[in-house]
Amino acid sequence: MIERKISRFGVFFLIFLLPLCALAQKGEKIQTIVIDAGHGGKDTGALGKVSKEKDLNLAVALKFGAYIEENLPDVKVIYTRKTDKFIELSERAAIANRNNADVFVSIHCNSTGTPNSAHGAETFVMGESKNDKNLEVAKKENAAILLEDNTDAYDNFDPNSTEAYIIFSLTQSLYQNQSLDLAGKVQNQFTQKLGRHDRGVQQAGFLVLWKTSMPSILVELGFINHAKEEQFLNSEKGQTQMALSLYRAFEEYKREFEAENHTSSQPVTEEKLSAPSGTYFTVQFASRDKKVASTDKTFSGVKEVDVYEYNGAFRYVSGKFTSKDAATKRQTELRNLGYKDAFVVAFVNGERATIKQAEEALKK
Ligand SMILES: [Zn+2]
Repeated sequence: MIERKISRFGVFFLIFLLPLCALAQKGEKIQTIVIDAGHGGKDTGALGKVSKEKDLNLAVALKFGAYIEENLPDVKVIYTRKTDKFIELSERAAIANRNNADVFVSIHCNSTGTPNSAHGAETFVMGESKNDKNLEVAKKENAAILLEDNTDAYDNFDPNSTEAYIIFSLTQSLYQNQSLDLAGKVQNQFTQKLGRHDRGVQQAGFLVLWKTSMPSILVELGFINHAKEEQFLNSEKGQTQMALSLYRAFEEYKREFEAENHTSSQPVTEEKLSAPSGTYFTVQFASRDKKVASTDKTFSGVKEVDVYEYNGAFRYVSGKFTSKDAATKRQTELRNLGYKDAFVVAFVNGERATIKQAEEALKK
C-alpha cells in the first residue's frame, strides 16, 4: 500500500510551478518509434506462392526505419527484430513499453482462405472487431502465441475462440484517438498517394497491440496470397513504396502532433488542475512521467480530471467524493471506459492518506 504522504514540495510544485512546467513542456516531441516486423523464425506468418510473410514484413520494416533514421535524426528507431528471429507477441509490446516509445507500428501481410479472392491494404488499431472479417485477421495474427513456450502473459487467451475476444470490448486504449489518426494517415498514403486498394482503417483485438502504452497500429500491407500483390510486395519497388508511405505518414503525424502541442497546449492553471486540498476520495486512473494537460485528448471521456505529483510521477485522478461508495462508482465507470487499473485513493487535508484515515476524518 502506498501510504507515504505527498511532500510539501509536491504541493508547492503543483500550485506554483506546474504552470511554468506546462510552458516548458509545450513542445512535446515524438522521439522514439518501435517498428515491429511481424512473425519471424519458426513463425513464418502467412504464406504466398513464392514468399513468406515474415520476410516481407522485415524488408519493409527495415526500409521504413532507414527512412526515419536518414530524414528525422531526432527520432530514435528501435526494431523488435532486425533478423529472421522468433519473438513473442508480449515481448514485442514490452520492448515498446520499456523504451517509452511514442509510437508503435507492427507490420504484417494478410491472406485469405481462397487465393486471389482479396487484395488491398488496411490498417488496424486496437478495438472490438465490428465484423467477422476483422475478427479473422486478429485470430490469424494472434495464433502466433500457439508457437510460444510460455503464454502466461495472455491470461489463458485462446486465439481461436471467438468468445475470448470479448475481453477486448472492455479495453479502450488511452491512445485510441492518436492511433486512429496515425492509421488514417497510413491508409491515406497507401491509397491516395500510392493507389493501393483501400480496405480502410479497422479495429480488432490484437495481442501485440493489447498492452502497448502509446499510440499503436498494425498495418496489413496487402495479401500475400493474391498473385499480383505478392509480386508487388516482393519487388524492390513495392517494398520501397510501402516503406516510404509509412515514413510519410509517420512524418506527418509527428509534425502535426508537435505543432499541436506547441500551439494549443495552454499553461495549466490552478483553475484547471487544483492541488489536493481538503479531505475526500478520488479515483486514480493514470500515471505519467511527463505532465499532460487535463484537457489533453488522451483523457477524453474522463470527467473532473485533476493531477497530483507523487513519488516523481504525475498521477491523474477523477472526481472528489465524500464517501468511498461514490468514489467506487466512479472507479467502475472508469474501468468500463478502459482504465482497467483505476483505483480509489484518499486525501486528508490535501495529503495522500489511507481510505481508513479519510473515513475517520470525514466522520468528525
Ligand atoms: Zn502477420
